Amino acid sequence: MKTEIVRIDPDRVEDFSDELERAAEIIRGGGLVAFPTETVYGLGGNALDPDASRKIYEAKGRPSDNPLIAHVASVEDFEALCEIEDRERFGLIAEHFIPGPITVIQKKKPHIPDTVTAGHPTLAVRFPVHTVARALIRASGVPIAAPSANLSGRPSPTRAEHVIEDLDGRVDMIIDSGESSIGVESTIIHIADEIPKLLRPGAVTLEMLRSVLGRVEVDPCILGKMSDDVKPLAPGMKYRHYAPKSPVIAVRGEEERILSYLAEKSCEPRSAILCFDEDKALLKSSDRVLTLGSRLDKSAHARYLFDRLRAFDKMDIDKIYTRVPDDSELGLAVVNRLLKACGYTVVDVK
Ligand code: AMP
Ligand code: MG
Repeated sequence: MKTEIVRIDPDRVEDFSDELERAAEIIRGGGLVAFPTETVYGLGGNALDPDASRKIYEAKGRPSDNPLIAHVASVEDFEALCEIEDRERFGLIAEHFIPGPITVIQKKKPHIPDTVTAGHPTLAVRFPVHTVARALIRASGVPIAAPSANLSGRPSPTRAEHVIEDLDGRVDMIIDSGESSIGVESTIIHIADEIPKLLRPGAVTLEMLRSVLGRVEVDPCILGKMSDDVKPLAPGMKYRHYAPKSPVIAVRGEEERILSYLAEKSCEPRSAILCFDEDKALLKSSDRVLTLGSRLDKSAHARYLFDRLRAFDKMDIDKIYTRVPDDSELGLAVVNRLLKACGYTVVDVK
């Protein structure tokens, strides 16, 4: 398949109506379009067309038991797809966080195909804030099912170049609108039961959700427990995701010990390091040392994480050692992705 690559300026969507109409036609015709959102790039197909979701699973090599998120362009559209059982709770989420980087799981309406929900009685729905994503959903006139636009298991794409690396020749169109501003996938909150539950942390943080909703449970898979030494956790937590080709090892503990450990590793010819800007001066200078930005800049960590993980694939290395940022607020999303990337392999250098 020949993939058409189209550039759309997110600040001037009104000048790109021809390109958007072409993309919308592809979606309506059952094809696939990769498009930008504020979180990461998505791989979109008509959420109401079971064949389109089958194509999404196939293009990504995604197991078909992993449900997709339906993207809509208004708050009313949540109601068109889901039963809103607790209006007050949904109303609070909508008032504070929608449109934005949050996905809400509720009971699905009967017309939603099982291929999208992977047989679950619930559907995940998000209304993105990105101008191009909104314009594409509106022009298509259908909800767009879209997982992250990467091959299954690889780091999510935050730039069109990442999508091209993984999906060129496998999808009809890729829309390039530059870098995603957030860089980690949406927060997922499940509100179909009594107590709201955070299933995936993102830029709408646990702290923000609790301040609006009160009690919010946290799925235990989000962080796993830290071990004292190199030790994977429960077998179910062991699978790798967001992973570069070389194994990733997270390094935690006391600041000075972390730095001396990384300094030693930076001298090994086939080891790479992911650290903060401030650490660079202390390590052996090399093009195998990448940073997540400044130590306290949580938005930079989120924005750069997947890009850096992908950059390691272009290096001739065997191992990647990484620092673990603070896990409060947006940091919880970053640490969650980082721990999955390293398959929960953590060295504690305390
Ligand atoms: P991605 O599409 O790559 O951003 O991943 C979507 C995530 O949403 C996956 O981890 C899914 O398991 C999760 N998800 C989507 N729909 C549901 C649902 N109905 N119940 C639970 N998790 C869901
Ligand atoms: Mg994904």
